Amino acid sequence: MEFMPGKVALVTGAASGLGRGCAIKLAKKGVNVVIADVNVEAAEKVASEIKVLGGSAFVVEMDVTSEESVEAGIRRCVEVYGSIDILVSNAGIQIVHPIEEFPFEEWKKMMAIHADGAFLTSRAAYRYMKESGKGGKIIFMGSAHSHVGSKLKSPYCFAKHGLLGLCRVLAKEGAEYGIHTYVVCPGFVKTPLVEKQIPEQSEALGISEEEVIKNVMLKDTVDGIFTTVEDIANAVYYLTEDSGAMTGQSIVLSHGWHMN
Ligand code: NAD
Repeated sequence: MEFMPGKVALVTGAASGLGRGCAIKLAKKGVNVVIADVNVEAAEKVASEIKVLGGSAFVVEMDVTSEESVEAGIRRCVEVYGSIDILVSNAGIQIVHPIEEFPFEEWKKMMAIHADGAFLTSRAAYRYMKESGKGGKIIFMGSAHSHVGSKLKSPYCFAKHGLLGLCRVLAKEGAEYGIHTYVVCPGFVKTPLVEKQIPEQSEALGISEEEVIKNVMLKDTVDGIFTTVEDIANAVYYLTEDSGAMTGQSIVLSHGWHMN
């Protein structure tokens, strides 16, 4: 595998949607990228796309809910590329139900991916960043739902709010080692995760799919416009270049849905 003289990033959930967009953006900027995902077939396609663009990438099969899988994936990143300078902890799913109908098993599945996944990936990357003496950037994929609540999304909002706390703690613990941490908070972006939610919310709320988009998803934006994958990838790239001035903070890209 060709190694470029730039930094090294591992992006979880990079086989699709926002993770894919971030991985491609970083690769275009000369970053060596590890595509970490449970969906190896789709991950390989992203790695091929990056190679066609002249970048460097390889795939690790990683389930962010498994300590063993996360440790092995990050170890492999360091073995192959010699380092991990950037972690984008992005893998995620969505399950929606009203609270009184939320099955405990589904709540636990959400926690395993969003909360355990954030902990396991950031802890593993943090250890290497500290040990290397070079520090690094840990970027969590939060959401506008890190700041606001929405009907049907109790575990998602719980976990996405929790990322703000984890990020703040790691910013304090990591400062002396040059480790900087951030939460990127997108509004709705049309990725496979959101495409799936439209009919589900339509059914749960008893309204049409058009109404879900207009009156639920984009209702509180200032202009009724979806955030894009490019918006998020650009923000992630920007944070990889931050001096540390923004450490411990979140950045919201939601067309004014949440303003802070
Ligand atoms: P997506 O469904 O397009 O992609 C998610 C990726 O995560 C997939 O490739 C999937 O295989 C992978 N994944 C799922 N479970 C995994 C696991 N256990 N281990 C490793 N990989 C796993 O979704 P997306 O919209 O790109 O979402 C990515 C992140 O962005 C999520 O954390 C999501 O909550 C967040 N987010 C999305 C939106 C949006 O509107 N799309 C808005 C705010 C935040």
